[in-house]
Amino acid sequence: MNESRTLLRKLRGRAASDGAGVRLTRIIGTPELDAFDPFLLLDEFRSDDPGDYVAGFPDHPHRGFETVTYLLAGRMRHGDNQGNSGLLGPGSVQWMTAGRGIVHSEFPEQQDGLLWGFQLWVNLPAALKMTAPRYQDIAPERIPEVITAPGVRARVVAGRLGEVQGPVEGIAIDPVYVDLTLAGGAGIDVPLPAAHNAFVYVYDGGLSAGPEEGAADVEQGELALLGKGSTVLMRAAPQGCGVLLIAGRPLGEPVARYGPFVMNTRREIEQALEDFRAGRL
Ligand code: FE
Repeated sequence: MNESRTLLRKLRGRAASDGAGVRLTRIIGTPELDAFDPFLLLDEFRSDDPGDYVAGFPDHPHRGFETVTYLLAGRMRHGDNQGNSGLLGPGSVQWMTAGRGIVHSEFPEQQDGLLWGFQLWVNLPAALKMTAPRYQDIAPERIPEVITAPGVRARVVAGRLGEVQGPVEGIAIDPVYVDLTLAGGAGIDVPLPAAHNAFVYVYDGGLSAGPEEGAADVEQGELALLGKGSTVLMRAAPQGCGVLLIAGRPLGEPVARYGPFVMNTRREIEQALEDFRAGRL
């Protein structure tokens, strides 16, 4: 199969509030788009008003999936009940495999006021839902930044882009996570594993995506779900664009979901709640 991916669907996120009142935009994990296997949630938080985010996300549990925090601006301090802690800075990523469970807090810290970043939830296959928790905290300088075509700058967080391999490793869904910045009119044809589910989220500017004869415009704040195929063709609008290109192998498993617990069955959710209440996470 050597097909250029088309656009399946395009949608905008909705304003939401989570944690202790952090204002954000929820893009995946809404009534409009519950999930896009293996992706369970995508949030964008972007504000230059610290009042929108400094209350943060006090202690809360996770079990059965992974959280991926990627910051464009600002900082995020995290700590968990197992003694892990750290401070993510601008341009860094944290890929946290919650596995059988952690209880942690996440507190955005302002830097020149602006906080801008994303959190993605990635599902774990049944066989790994109860795996040991694992953190990959990756500093900005470890994320390769390459010019892949004239006017195209790529930061490869996970997966492979040409000869460049991102630093996140050992993830079940074999992810591709690339932050692309395109100058006005610049274009790129990105190879992707053909059977992965993939989407683009335009966080700045605009672009057109899809094969020449069927390209569709995607504007700032829009998510575009892509059909299957071995490449995705993108061309920036005249003002250029910033876009996340994210792909992963779909799991095709039943999803039982309750707040911060994502398992395969209701019984496993009840067990997670029991374990959390008994302090076993
Ligand atoms: Fe969390």
